[in-house]
Parts: sequence; C-alpha cells; structure tokens
Amino acid sequence: MIKNISILALVFSVLISCKIEKKEAVQASNDENQTQQIIYFGGDIITMDGDTPQYAEAVVQREGKIIFVGKKSDAEKQFSSAKKHDLQGKTMLPGFIDPHGHFMSAILMVTQVNVASPPMGTITDIASMIKKLQDFKEEKGIKDGEWIVGWGYDQDLLAEKRHITKLDLDKAFPNNKVLVIHISMHGAVLNSKALEWAGVDKNSKTPDGGVIARLPGGNEPAGLLMEMAYMPVFDKLPQPSEDEMMDLMKAAQVQYVSNGYTHAVEGFTHIKDMNTLKRAAKEGRFFIDIASLPGFTEMDKWLNNPEYPFGEYNNRLKFQGGKFTLDGSPQGLTAYMAEPYKVSGPNGEKNWVGNTSIPRKELAKLAKTMVDNNVQIMFHANGSGAIEDAIYAIENAGIKAGDNKRPVIIHSQFQKLEHLIKYVEIGITPTYFTNHTFYWGDVHIRNVGEKKASFISPIKAANDLGLVTSNHTDFNVTLLDPFFVMWTSMKRETRSGKILGADQVIDAYAALQQITTGSAYQFFEENRKGKIKKGMLADFVILDKNPLKLSNVDEVKEVKVVETIKEGKSVYKK
Ligand SMILES: [Zn+2]
Repeated sequence: MIKNISILALVFSVLISCKIEKKEAVQASNDENQTQQIIYFGGDIITMDGDTPQYAEAVVQREGKIIFVGKKSDAEKQFSSAKKHDLQGKTMLPGFIDPHGHFMSAILMVTQVNVASPPMGTITDIASMIKKLQDFKEEKGIKDGEWIVGWGYDQDLLAEKRHITKLDLDKAFPNNKVLVIHISMHGAVLNSKALEWAGVDKNSKTPDGGVIARLPGGNEPAGLLMEMAYMPVFDKLPQPSEDEMMDLMKAAQVQYVSNGYTHAVEGFTHIKDMNTLKRAAKEGRFFIDIASLPGFTEMDKWLNNPEYPFGEYNNRLKFQGGKFTLDGSPQGLTAYMAEPYKVSGPNGEKNWVGNTSIPRKELAKLAKTMVDNNVQIMFHANGSGAIEDAIYAIENAGIKAGDNKRPVIIHSQFQKLEHLIKYVEIGITPTYFTNHTFYWGDVHIRNVGEKKASFISPIKAANDLGLVTSNHTDFNVTLLDPFFVMWTSMKRETRSGKILGADQVIDAYAALQQITTGSAYQFFEENRKGKIKKGMLADFVILDKNPLKLSNVDEVKEVKVVETIKEGKSVYKK
C-alpha cells in the first residue's frame, strides 16, 4: 500500500515463440489438444450437482471445460490419449466461488504483514509480533526510511493483555515508519517515526470522537490512535501507483487460489479502481475470475457507459451489479436497526439505532434507475432497519420473485423471520456472514440480546423457505478461509465457547453449497460454475480430506487445499 515500499518481485515466464511450418503447427496444436484432455480419478469427486451429495468416479476436462462425468472405465475408453490425474485418495470439488469480499483490499494486503492472533494469525505476545514485523522487513527487503505496515493485532489476545506502544516498536525499528492496524480496523499503533510523519506529538489535542493514547504521567503519545484521531492518518497513507498495483495482482490472486477460490469479488469498486481492474484484465493479469460491484456513489459515471459493460466477462473481469452500502457494522454499533440497541451509542446516545448512509426515498430512486437499466442491485445491509430499507427499494423497483433479477442483500445479519418471507415473495437472495458468530458473537449478545443475536445469519431458516443462500468472509474483514466459514456455519460457536443459534446450524454439504452453487446463482453463473457437470468450466479444488466424511465438526477447520485448477490449468499447488 506504500509507494516507497519494496514491492514483491514477480517472476514472469517468458514465452518463446518458435517458427514452425504451417503443417507442423496444425499437427502440434492437435497434439496439444490431446494432452489438454485430462482425466481426474482416484478420489472422492463431489459434484455438488443435486440437493444431496453425489460422487463421480471420473471427470474429463478439455480446453477448460468439463466434457465428461461418469465411470472411470468409460472415460478411459472414450479418451484413451488423455493425460491422467490420479487424485490418490484426495477429494475434488468445484472451485470455490467467493460470494462477497474486497479484492482491492486483497491487493493492498500483499504489502502488509498479518500480526493477528489465532485463528487469524500466529501472534501470541508482543515479542512474537515484533519478530513477525522484523521477518517481514527482511523478507521484503524493506530499507531504512520505508514503511512497514502490519494488520490485525488484538490486545485482548496478547499475553500482556495491553496495546503495543511506540516504545515497543522504536527499539526494534528506529529507522522505519511502522504502523500496526488494530483488528477492528478503527485504529492503529504508530512508532515514533510514523507519529512524526503524522504530525502527532505531545501538543496534539485529542479530536472529538477520537482517541490519542498517552504514555503514563504526561502528554507524550503512546502510539495508539483510534477513530477520528486515526482516520486522517489512514487517509494520508501513501497508496501504490497503478504500475505497482499491476505487479501486485498476481500475489493478490494467490491469496484466493491458495484457499481454493477460483472466483473473487471486489465488493465496492470506485471508478479509479474500475479502471485499474480494466487495465489488469487487458494486460491478461487475471488467472481467476473477478466480479466487481461498482459503487452507487459514482453511478452517474458508470451507468450506461460503454466503457463499463455489465454482466459479461472480458479477460476474466466482469462488472456484476451496482452496490449500495446502507449501514455500518453491528460490532461498531453503526448497523442500522429497526429497534434500539440494548446499549447506548458510541457517544453515549440513548435509544441508539445506528446509522444509515442513505435516506430510504433516495435509495429507492437510485435502485429503480439501476434496475430499469438492467443492472443487478446488491445492498450491504447488516441491521434490521437497513434490511427493511433494502426490501422497500426492491419492492419499489417493481421486482417480484420469478423476474429473475436476483437482488442480493449482502450480510443480511440482524433480520427477522418476516423479512425472509418477504425475500421469498420478491426474489431476494441473501449472502450471509456466519464468521460473525465467532468473531463478534459475544459482543452481539451484549449489544442486542441473546435472542436477536442467535438469529444472526439464519442460513437454515432461509434454506427451509427455499431461498438460495451463500456465505462469505468479507475478506479482509475476516480471514479468507473457506473451511473456517464452513465451521462457523456448522457450529456457530462464539469466542467464549457459547453456541449462538443452535437451530440455525447447517450440515457440511449445505455449507459447501454456500461457496459453490449458492454463490454461482447470485452471480448468474449457475450454468458455468459451482458444479462438476458436463459443459461447465473445469474449475476445481483438490482437498486433503473429504469435508463430508469427518468424524466431528471441528475437523473441518483442519482441511487443506492441495491444488486449485482454473479452467483446466493448475493455478496453485501446495
Ligand atoms: Zn464488504
């Protein structure tokens, strides 16, 4: 994310062109077609084709498409010259489809180091955090004077049970600007060099709605800046140039394919970033599919603009639908609720219901414009109030179930059963966020009470009503780990070990549907992706274990991706 930072060196393979006779060229390409046929066999192949688990003995792909699913003996007879890929007892599934996340953040994260504690990271105390930052500096060849940025520290999960300070950082990094972002993303600890750059010193006044932590016995800043004291610092952080972004595209996608995802989402795209993504696509830098959701704030720039065609892939980039952000987050008390929180607002407000970013009438008008221009609408809505605003806008746009418009409510967290009945009526498809049960479940119980908190991301209730659902990580808000997402939907255990909504637990197959068939439907790609079926893309993930054959739910967290295949080509191997 930093202009001066040493960027990961990328190795590009060099294409060597050979001059050959035309006849030979034809022969060669035929041979290549032959070798491009691959038979996969020898393990559990879960097709995801159906309401219950179905297995295939063999699958054949040619030129990126599945051309055969069936018996191994038939495959070998029909495709005798095909290359063989023996799974050796491993499990193959369709490539995972990320239902919602932030690809642009994934690009920036490549330039930062994870200093989170388990399960997101490995940090247990301040010494291990400093060591991780030092290793990162060395690995990336970061020189003196340049930035080192870490993310994800949580003082409650450190042995010392306190925030790190500039004193901890200064000892190890006297010559670099260091910034370590808090797990909430609402603050960071800066070392002396970084504080100096930010212009924060003992004379700095604490801004309204902000925190500048001070060292004991004086006004000297300790390093931690939160909320309104952090925002201007965050905004001022140097960004990589577009050229640097291009170099980071590969490493950004590796984060996805190493987790089995062959499809990523850019969940709120600004015009500037739409252009960056377009350039990357044009330069052939994408080896997975990217679905981008341009933001409503710049709709006048992208709607009906031939520069930004919607609903079709160009070099693996698709502008999917228009994105509205209706509220904040429930853990930050900024999700917009239909009824007040049980606790007072961030500044002590009574009967606090959170914030909405756009009045209902204006939202309805903008949403209708998108729908009238054939753009799919997607709403970020966490609280019941925001969900009701989204329902209002969808109804106002004249959408009914059966219209096949598939409006998506992203997160859809604090909802009521009556909302789900509406979803069925007007064809809304929700993408849920069960990772919240673990990350913030205990906080939600405190904020809204156990009854409401237990109905968070109610996948079971939605599926029982016949709704198509998916389940996301909102990367980089939570870790991009499909097995952790599966676990949170299959167990719903909070950090403190409480089960939040036992009646909303789903089984492993339903959990897999969330990241295959469910998300494919939400992107109008159910006939291309999400199943192992003849005619579909040869996007696969190979796992060390079969998630449907584990002896207990907790084991799903230990499943590992062995290989990821995008349209017949191996894009990741462990
Ligand atoms: Zn998001």
